[in-house]
Amino acid sequence: MIGDWSDTGTGLLPSAVRCGNWGRVARSGKVETMERIGFIGLGIMGQPMARNLLRAGFPLTVYTRDRRKIEAFVEQGANGANSPREVAERSTVVITMLPDSPEVEEVALGPNGVIEGIQSGSLFIDMSTIDPSVARKLHAAFAERGVEALDAPVSGGQIGAEQGTLSIMVGGSEEAFQRALPVFQAMGKNITHVGGPGAGQVAKACNQVVVALTIQAVAEALLLAEKAGVDPARVRQALLGGFAHSRILEVHGQRILERAFAPGFRARLHRKDLRIAQNLAREQAVPLLATQQVAALFDSMLARGLGEHDHSALALVYRALAGEQGEDS
Ligand code: NAD
Repeated sequence: MIGDWSDTGTGLLPSAVRCGNWGRVARSGKVETMERIGFIGLGIMGQPMARNLLRAGFPLTVYTRDRRKIEAFVEQGANGANSPREVAERSTVVITMLPDSPEVEEVALGPNGVIEGIQSGSLFIDMSTIDPSVARKLHAAFAERGVEALDAPVSGGQIGAEQGTLSIMVGGSEEAFQRALPVFQAMGKNITHVGGPGAGQVAKACNQVVVALTIQAVAEALLLAEKAGVDPARVRQALLGGFAHSRILEVHGQRILERAFAPGFRARLHRKDLRIAQNLAREQAVPLLATQQVAALFDSMLARGLGEHDHSALALVYRALAGEQGEDS
């Protein structure tokens, strides 16, 4: 059924769940409480992350713009909701995984948003990559309702999301971090409590600087090999065993060789992340020289209509600069 999920929200759950946390019996025989999770934003990352929460046994309520995606999750055993508010009403932990700061603000604080349905004592976790100042605003807004918040952006891409091996960078209180840890462990491996509100987003901005510059280095090097008449696939192979090894050389190097640019991570979202890093740097008077350059290359990608391509398609800008035209060049 595509339509109204008001009947499925708690209908699939036993009555005990409606007034408290889901219980499960541990090997020790002790009943452990399990958070009821609400997940909003079922895109490239959100879908596999939410699926891993279902697999881990968490009762799950989902909402996203595309109702067919909600339907697919209902078929897998989740509950569907009609709005972020409804998700919050049915959950003890609400997670958002949305494109950018405006979408997160709208879903969290806007009309029919999470804040209208969330109960005091619940936890709000934004796992999108957004501006640290917006993350702090969310922490403050939820605190007024007696709700703790965490900013918990991720790294590891679509593959990490599917395999449940994401790196998760968390900002917020130690208590909220400890409460969320079993939830994070269903989605990730390297889970770090970086600091207070906004600290997770600062770590993620740093992450995106390193990733962008590494893609640039890999694209440059593989093009240089090709232009010098040497097989770039062999060069990648040779470099993988040495000091130049990186996940980006491994995964995106292969994408570049195969011209396999279906996202993955959309270039326009990475440009957004670099803008976050550049704004932060401006506030702190830190000169991000190399980032400025790679951000201009991302601007060129977007101007060429490559914004929906994977960020590794930065290699196509290099090819164009070196006189090779067209996506298949
Ligand atoms: P995506 O564009 O594939 O998915 C975003 C989802 O949010 C879509 O399903 C969209 O329908 C939904 N959405 C947008 N606005 C909405 C609204 N107002 N209400 C409800 N749903 C709404 O993006 P993604 O690649 O999944 O990325 C999500 C976040 O994770 C971004 O902040 C991105 O920067 C970050 N991220 C992405 C990757 C990656 O490799 N794709 C890796 C790490 C972090």
